[in-house]
Amino acid sequence: MSQETTLSEFIIGEQRKCSEATGGFTALLNDICLACKRISYLVGRGALGGVHGATTGDNVQGERQMKLDVMANDIFLRTNESGGRLAAMVSEELEAVYPIPAQYPRGRYLLVFDPLDGSSNIDINGTVGSIFSVLRCAQGVTEPAAKDFLQPGTTQVCAGYAIYGPATMLVLTLGRGVYGFTLDRELGEFMLTHPDLRIAADTSEFAINASNERFWEPPVKRYISECLAGASGPRAKDFNMRWIASFVAEAHRILMRGGLFLYPKDSKDPAKAGRLRLLYEANPMAYLIEQAGGAASTGHGRMLEVAPEDLHQRVPVILGSKDEVERIARYHEEHDCGVDQPYTSPLFNTRSLFTQP
Ligand code: MN
Ligand code: MN
Repeated sequence: MSQETTLSEFIIGEQRKCSEATGGFTALLNDICLACKRISYLVGRGALGGVHGATTGDNVQGERQMKLDVMANDIFLRTNESGGRLAAMVSEELEAVYPIPAQYPRGRYLLVFDPLDGSSNIDINGTVGSIFSVLRCAQGVTEPAAKDFLQPGTTQVCAGYAIYGPATMLVLTLGRGVYGFTLDRELGEFMLTHPDLRIAADTSEFAINASNERFWEPPVKRYISECLAGASGPRAKDFNMRWIASFVAEAHRILMRGGLFLYPKDSKDPAKAGRLRLLYEANPMAYLIEQAGGAASTGHGRMLEVAPEDLHQRVPVILGSKDEVERIARYHEEHDCGVDQPYTSPLFNTRSLFTQP
């Protein structure tokens, strides 16, 4: 039997490459991994675990909380609060910053997370995940407030996600490439199975919630119409469309075999700039995708350079294969300068997504 590398061995190895690193960061990552293993166990129990169904409450985003959203959030808080490495946490499920309870020592890192992503998939036994990002707490700050978390994605120390699919995997970047680990359920360890993941620059696969087509902006309508026109259209090749309704599952597919994911800005609810949240969904994924050679954009700039204004701020997300992300960014620029008229004229727009010639 070959001796595979465990996640802990991998992190210790990475730490040694970095002269200023301390064991504290390794301990923090071990706690995050333990939280993901605990959630993986619960998710894997399915209906037997009594974890299916919704609660009677809504979360801070006004979305109905599933039982598993609440349980996964609790697991993340409990598993990460006592290790002494964190100063505070921010969760999708909590409106305010979660300070480390007074009985535990405080550390120099901040953790932001989406404890359970894709929770509409729980009751159908579909793929869900957890997303996390680690930031540094500014020196001298002992009681971190919301403003201490409002750092652009470029400052992330590490980011990753766990995906609870047929196999549980943990995918991680420490800023030197992207590494995928598969949970060995008998050993209870994540084993390195996908070293140095890379995303091809080109793709013929995209994922978007097409039911929102009528709300999209012209550059996105243009891009998708061109894909749908296939081999006889301006792109001169056929595309495939995917939609799993779980951001983790979509990003994971892209890291495995390339592709493009869009949850663009739309006019459905003018109060919202997009669907996904910047701090604990878009930024960690953007960091992973960039580290694997892909790109992540809002349509109007690099995701990782967006200056956050709010803990739960939403943002348009376009990420995946680099050439396609750059093409869509260009379509936005061309639209802003008015040079895309032939593509976005009323005549062009009457072609619906599903009635392409
Ligand atoms: Mn989510
Ligand atoms: Mn969630």
